[in-house]
Amino acid sequence: MTDDERAERHRRLRAADHRHLWHPFTPMQEWLAEDPLIVDRAEGSYLIDTLGRRYLDGVSSLWCNVHGHRVPEIDAAIRAQLERVGHSTLLGLASTASIECAEELIGHAPPGLTRVFFSDAGATAVEIAIKMAFQHHQLRGDVARKEFVTLAGAYHGDTLGAVSVGGIDLFHRIFRPLLFEVQRAPQPYCYRCPLGRAWPGCAMACADEVERVFAARPGRIAALVIEPRVQGADGMIVQPPGYLRRMREICDRHGALLVCDEVATGWGRTGRTFAVEHEGVAPDILTTAKGITGGYLPLAATLTTEAVFESFLGPPEAQRTFFHGHTYAGNPLACAAATASMRLFRERGVGAAVPARAEALAGALGALAGHPHVGEIRQRGLMVGIELVRDRSSRERFPAALRVGHRACMAARPRGAILRPLGDVVVLMPPLSMTPAELGELARIATAAIDEATAAAAGGAA
Ligand SMILES: *Cc1c(COP(=O)(O)O)cnc(C)c1O
Repeated sequence: MTDDERAERHRRLRAADHRHLWHPFTPMQEWLAEDPLIVDRAEGSYLIDTLGRRYLDGVSSLWCNVHGHRVPEIDAAIRAQLERVGHSTLLGLASTASIECAEELIGHAPPGLTRVFFSDAGATAVEIAIKMAFQHHQLRGDVARKEFVTLAGAYHGDTLGAVSVGGIDLFHRIFRPLLFEVQRAPQPYCYRCPLGRAWPGCAMACADEVERVFAARPGRIAALVIEPRVQGADGMIVQPPGYLRRMREICDRHGALLVCDEVATGWGRTGRTFAVEHEGVAPDILTTAKGITGGYLPLAATLTTEAVFESFLGPPEAQRTFFHGHTYAGNPLACAAATASMRLFRERGVGAAVPARAEALAGALGALAGHPHVGEIRQRGLMVGIELVRDRSSRERFPAALRVGHRACMAARPRGAILRPLGDVVVLMPPLSMTPAELGELARIATAAIDEATAAAAGGAA
C-alpha cells in the first residue's frame, strides 16, 4: 500500500467510526473532534496503526495481554479449534475445549479451588460470584446473610451487580438509584489515608474498620468482595503487606465468604500467578478474566471450593440449581486460546520471570521518583501507577479539569507508546513478555510525556 492509499483508507475508516461507533469510557464529543488512532495490526509488544506507525502497548490492550501479540502457539490453537467447532453451549452439554481449559486452569489455581464456572467478562465473573455467595448461604439455611462488604475505591466491572459492589464515585455515582445496598469500609490508600494515619505506625487501622463493619452486622454478611493486594482501577492502590490475610481472618471469624477479584491481578501481573499467593490466602471464590486467554478472546471464570459447590447439590425438584448462564459461556475458541496461553505460562515460567522485569522497569522509572509533580510511584510486579500531583510536599492534586493524566498519555503517543490514565494516575501495565530494552523505552517515553504534560499544566494553572 502506498502512503496515499494508507491515508485514504484511514480517512474512510475514521469517517465510519465517527458515524457509527460509541466508545466505552470515552467522552464522545471530544472523540468526534479528534483524529483517532486506529489499530490495524500488532506484533509482539507493538500495536501498529492504519498509517503504519508502531506503538509500545504500554497497558497490555487494557491489562489483558500476557505474552505479546500474535503468539504463534495461541494463533495455532485457535486455528486448530476452528477446524473442529466455533461454538457449542455448556448449558446441559459438555465440550472438549472447555474441559481441557478447566483442567489446566485448576492446575494454576490456589489450593482449595476446584470448581470452574465459565462466563465471558470480568464483570460477569463478579456477578456470578455475588449470586453464588448469596445462594450458597440461602441453601444452607443461613438466610439472613444477604449483605456484601466492599472497599471504597473498589472496581469490579460495569454491570449493575458489579457496580453495586464498586466504589469509584466518578463511574458509579449516577447509577446509585439502580444498585443494591452494600456495606462499605474505608480504602487502604496509604498515600492519602482516609483515617489520617500513617503505615506502619497505624497498625493497619483500616483493617480494624473492616472488622467493625462485620461486627455491626452479626450474621448478616454473605461475603467480602475485594481486589487482592492492588485496587487497580482506582489508581493502582497498593495494600500494605498482611492486609489481605487480615481480610481472610475477619471473614472466617464472622462466617462470611471471601471473594477475591483477580481479574486485573491474575496471571503473573504481581509476580505470582494469582496475587492471593503472596499472602498464602485461600479465597472461597476467585474471579479471573483479562489475562486468562493471554489477551486474545473474551473468557472469564469464577472458581470456587467443593464446600460452596456442594450446597447446590440435590435432586432437580429441590431447586438447588444455580440458575445463571451466558450464551457464550466456555466458548470453545476462547477456551482453546486460554489453554494455549496457560500452557505457555507454565512451560515458559512466565510468572517467575516477572520480578526481574519489574525490577528493570522500576530502575528505568528511577528518575521519576524525584520529579516535582510525581507524588508517588506504586508498583506491584508489572502493575504500576504514577500519581501526578500539583505540589509534591502538600500532595495537592492538579485541578481535574486540566486532565493532566490524559495529557501525559496523549503526549506518549507521538513518542511511540500507548498509555491510558486513571484520573491523574499514569498506568504502566506492559505485557509480561516485554523485554528489558522495551521496558526501558516505555519508561523513557512515560517520563518525557509526564514532563511535558505536568510542565504545561503547572504553567497553565499558575
Ligand atoms: C477489568 C476489571 C473487571 C471487569 O472486567 P471486564 O472484562 O471489563 O468486564 C473486574 N474486576 C477488576 C478487578 C478489573 O480490573
